[in-house]
Amino acid sequence: MNTDKPAVPSDFIRDIITADLAAGRQSRIITRFPPEPNGYLHIGHAKAICIDFGTALEFGGQCHLRMDDTNPSKETMEYVDSIKNDVRWLGFDWGGNFFFSADYFETMVECARTLIKKGKAYVCELTLDQWKEYRGIPTQPGRESPSRNRPVAESLDLFARMRAGEFPDGTLCVRAKIDMASPNLHLRDPVIYRIMRAHHYRAGGQWCIYPTYDFAHPIEDALEKVTHSLCTLEFEVHRPLYDWFIQELGFDPKPRQIEFARLNVTYTVLSKRKLLELVRDGLVTGWDDPRMPTITGLRRRGFTPESIREFCRRVGVTKFDGYTDIALLEFCLREELNKSAPRAMAVLDPVRVVIENYPVGQVEWIDAVNNPEDPAAGSRTIPFSRELYIEADDFREDSPKKYFRLAPGKEVRLRYGYFITCTGFTRDETTGRVTEIRCAYDPATRGGNAPDGRKVKGTIHWVSATHGLPAEIRLYDRLFKVEHPEDVPDGVDYKSNLNPASLNVVRAVVEPSLAQAAPGARFQFERKGYFIADSQDHRTPSPVFNQIVPLKDSWSKAGEA
Ligand code: ATP
Ligand code: MG
Repeated sequence: MNTDKPAVPSDFIRDIITADLAAGRQSRIITRFPPEPNGYLHIGHAKAICIDFGTALEFGGQCHLRMDDTNPSKETMEYVDSIKNDVRWLGFDWGGNFFFSADYFETMVECARTLIKKGKAYVCELTLDQWKEYRGIPTQPGRESPSRNRPVAESLDLFARMRAGEFPDGTLCVRAKIDMASPNLHLRDPVIYRIMRAHHYRAGGQWCIYPTYDFAHPIEDALEKVTHSLCTLEFEVHRPLYDWFIQELGFDPKPRQIEFARLNVTYTVLSKRKLLELVRDGLVTGWDDPRMPTITGLRRRGFTPESIREFCRRVGVTKFDGYTDIALLEFCLREELNKSAPRAMAVLDPVRVVIENYPVGQVEWIDAVNNPEDPAAGSRTIPFSRELYIEADDFREDSPKKYFRLAPGKEVRLRYGYFITCTGFTRDETTGRVTEIRCAYDPATRGGNAPDGRKVKGTIHWVSATHGLPAEIRLYDRLFKVEHPEDVPDGVDYKSNLNPASLNVVRAVVEPSLAQAAPGARFQFERKGYFIADSQDHRTPSPVFNQIVPLKDSWSKAGEA
């Protein structure tokens, strides 16, 4: 993997904008990010945010944050607040340009009336099922609704009465009059207004008619004078309709829709509906569960805004749908935290070591470097004493040839400490687990070097048993156990692919300096990985850390390259 950061590479969106600016079609660009407030944002949205806000920023324009809230049934203010919070956290700023589609409802009614008056829309009486049947299939023309040629005055009257609440939900609708023979089904007289008695979290109960997304979106863009409306590829087939509305409603300047590929990531799902299901069914602890691909989940897990933006930069902007390896995101995080995270020692699976020739009650405070990548980070002192904890898997009774850690008769270096040689151990016969390891230390090796020049290959981390702090550490694995969890045969639920071992809580012992760790502080636990003090549960006397990523990626090659 190329680790240098080239200047932002160009892509087809930037090329289009550059050409539009050069040709004088616009003097300043305006983009927008239009989430529907029906769930929390996820890493796929982060890609769209980086493209929408990032492009505007790069070209000296502005990006609007717009709640695309034309479908009231699942929208809430909680989601609106979370969206603002997440976009801000990712590092983007909409200035004063925060909008609600719902605030344009009155204008949208006017737009529908304009189309009706022009003979370009009509009130239709087909039921939903009939409408689908009349619409037909792409290879054959559809059939015209019997209402299609009703007089303009009649449509205007019915539309007014729809709004006034005279008709039940789902009966009448307003349709654009375009082309029932178009090979593009979206142009076969699409619905632009439907009757739906639903409380809107912002507009309240004042509406019983709501515009469809296809009708609302171009109007919102045009009203905000958006120049480039960037969206995902599934909207490509809607573009002729988008352009038709802009044209027929006479908006000028005309926003231009450009599509890019959605982000799909391995080992997870990125559909708000499915993510909501995981939350609702209690399969995760909430939207901010550190295993979730949501921005709030990634934040709690310990990912930084920089690592997410860097991930999006590397994913780039293309027109092909494909999967991105989740390992790439982890790689971006490691790259960043390797430079910035202070080091600390934590023993995740502790076993006691007694250094039998070390004076009882003696404590030495040893210097430890905070970050070898950053001399300015300085150093701290850590206590060394007669009894320590090391990782259980840093000791083996029968050690293979290439095993350079602790084993009977073998010598290792304790990081920043002394050389120790194993002289014996005790095993619990019922569990088979080693409960105590006995060692002798060489007092001449303090700091990790022998004056006689003898070498030891292995260096292991440790924590003083007398001073160490018990801590809860949450180790995370992939949320799903397969790369493409949604690829399931008919009748099989994608949730059957959930990884039952995605969370493993361990009782660890950490060095005492971590008593001061603030919630949200990130560390590299030496030889283990990157960890963050949990933003919700971490307390000074009882620390709780989340594993962000292990040091090395054990899953895929992307992180190694
Ligand atoms: P979902 O399928 O998760 O409900 P959505 O497209 O309905 O997603 P919106 O809230 O409408 O969610 O999305 C807001 C914007 O984010 C849209 O412009 C959409 O194109 C973009 N977006 C959503 N998901 C992705 C993704 N996986 N990759 C890139 N952009 C995305
Ligand atoms: Mg959408």
